[in-house]
Amino acid sequence: MSFESLGLSAPVLQAVAEKGYTTPTPIQEKAIPIVLMGRDVLGCAQTGTGKTAGFVLPMIDILSQGRAKARMPRSLILEPTRELAAQVAENFETYGKHNKLNMALLIGGVSFPDQERALERGVDVLIATPGRLLDHFERGGILLNDVKILVIDEADRMLDMGFIPDVERIVSTLPPLRQTLFFSATMPPEIKRLADRFLSNPKEVTVSPPASASANIVQGLIVVPEDDKRDALLALIKSQEVKNAIVFCNRKRDVATLHTTLKKHGLNAGALHGDMSQPARTETLEKFKAGDIQILVASDVAARGLDVQDMSHVFNYDVPFSPEDYVHRIGRTGRAGKTGHSFTLAAPFEGGLIEAIEKLIGTSIPRVEIPGLETATLEAGDGRRRGRGGRGGRPVGRSGGGAGDKPRGPRREPREHREPRPEKLVEPQAAAEAPRDVPREPRPERAPRERRPERVHAPRDHAPRDHAPREQRAERNQERRPEQRRDRDDGGAAPKGLGDHVPAFLARPSR
Ligand code: AMP
Repeated sequence: MSFESLGLSAPVLQAVAEKGYTTPTPIQEKAIPIVLMGRDVLGCAQTGTGKTAGFVLPMIDILSQGRAKARMPRSLILEPTRELAAQVAENFETYGKHNKLNMALLIGGVSFPDQERALERGVDVLIATPGRLLDHFERGGILLNDVKILVIDEADRMLDMGFIPDVERIVSTLPPLRQTLFFSATMPPEIKRLADRFLSNPKEVTVSPPASASANIVQGLIVVPEDDKRDALLALIKSQEVKNAIVFCNRKRDVATLHTTLKKHGLNAGALHGDMSQPARTETLEKFKAGDIQILVASDVAARGLDVQDMSHVFNYDVPFSPEDYVHRIGRTGRAGKTGHSFTLAAPFEGGLIEAIEKLIGTSIPRVEIPGLETATLEAGDGRRRGRGGRGGRPVGRSGGGAGDKPRGPRREPREHREPRPEKLVEPQAAAEAPRDVPREPRPERAPRERRPERVHAPRDHAPRDHAPREQRAERNQERRPEQRRDRDDGGAAPKGLGDHVPAFLARPSR
């Protein structure tokens, strides 16, 4: 099929041709005619499928008729991260270059006055992250009554980041008569429920099974004691022909630590996480895209939507908490028919997470041994560290101890994996270079708890307010175990009957 047969206008077709695309991707083929008809779309598609052009191209045509009034955008695209929002804006610039549409990008880390000036001029396309959009809305700088097309992109990621209450608030201010395009890589029940509320008689478009790893990706799993992960990563990087790679960490503090380690070992590494200023993030991203940074250590949230063509490797320093994230992460490599490599480092306590991933992708990840490093055995479990008192949010670093772990019930026998013999990849001396850790001291016995004294003052009715910017709060939310996220519909974890305004003390997991 050609782009010409999809019903797009001549200026848009010209821009597509100038970009060098000759054939629409499956999501474009299916979605573009439906969007042009004015129908709602429920799209199940991941990044990398070409879904952005799937909604941007027909939107340009629909919006090419008419004019925007000051502070009243005609269309709204909600994205979970700044990077994704910026990428969608780039798409509008590329494909809309022969049309005269005004666009504004409302993301955190950019000055309010500049954004206000852009809104004042009148915008046809407003691309925003939910937090920054609400900030403008609350200041009275924007009216959403004229929005005719709404796009909610990466809805499952919005859920993970705790943005759904914000999205619901935004949607409640939009006119009910509008066209809504709703995209999500996965369709868990809570996302489906949202789609049912936001969409009217939508046409469903699914382009690939919700979670399948590309056949072009050679996957490997290295099971090592947690304290050997750093050495294992260094050994892998040295043994592989790494052109460019992302190293994913579950927690942003590990991003910073690992970045320093890689640099100390002479590697050309950069870091990307939500605590960095926007200019620093943009600079790092540009350098990585240009090939000036070879290895990017990143958190999921910060790397979401990172569109770097032809990435040779993805390393998972931690096993992601959600199996869908595994598919997303490794999907950064092996694109456009090229072969990519992904290696996942798992500590024994991450066995439960590996089990969930293998169930989702329907195959076992081939085990790989690193000569010179002990191969450990995966244990059944939920991905939380054992015996360190650590919760999901603790660093991967070498400090142990600390109270706070709840009893976890009887321990099951370690799960046995019966895969083909692991491939040997690395020369022993490669692994021996990294400094080794000092063994941890056993944890002292904990003294029995004393009874708390009677309270004299009235108890606080909420947890101290988190004053961090919205996006950093979202990243913290993402770093928590899924069952700790208050917006997850996980069988009653979130108190019912309070709407979205659940006081933090009710949302905390009970002891
Ligand atoms: P997306 O899923 O929207 O993030 O797009 C993934 C990548 O595919 C981007 O680099 C796009 O520029 C590219 N792309 C989008 N449409 C096409 C197409 N029809 N042919 C080739 N590449 C495309």
